[in-house]
Amino acid sequence: MRNRMYLEIASMSENESFARVAVGAFISQLDPTMDELMEVKTVVSEAVTNSIIHGYNEEPNHTIEISCHLYDRKFDLTITDHGMGIEDIEIAREPMYTSKPELERSGMGFTIIENFMDSIEIESSIGKGTTIHMTKILSPKKTKVVHE
Ligand code: ATP
Ligand code: MG
Repeated sequence: MRNRMYLEIASMSENESFARVAVGAFISQLDPTMDELMEVKTVVSEAVTNSIIHGYNEEPNHTIEISCHLYDRKFDLTITDHGMGIEDIEIAREPMYTSKPELERSGMGFTIIENFMDSIEIESSIGKGTTIHMTKILSPKKTKVVHE
């Protein structure tokens, strides 16, 4: 089974919860476990928040693109912004590294994404923006046991 969904949102924090719910609703067709659903929603929140706060410095009128593909139980998620970009991706991925300690960020976004997804790939260039590709293989569907 193949399916896809694209979502374009303005870089406003109000849209973070919308994106999270929309992607959650899209993958619901695969009957994910509660944990898988929570993991995917959390990852969307982390990546979208990063685009808003870091990519666009909280300016509300920029664009964030979210694209979702399903190939059987493989879920591909790509989140793109056209913001300031990441100078050193390796450092950005380190647990507890944040470029905005003054905002009391904990620097755990990428670490959470790595833990909750099966793969994450970051492409970024200064002044052009950032794309995060992620994949997750959802667990096999549980068949319902019918007691007679
Ligand atoms: P937390 O996610 O815990 O609130 P954080 O956002 O600083 O803190 P990460 O999400 O792990 O931590 O991101 C690490 C760093 O990578 C950020 O501090 C920022 O410098 C950079 N970064 C992440 N996403 C982007 C982005 N979309 N555009 C520009 N820089 C980014
Ligand atoms: Mg973050």
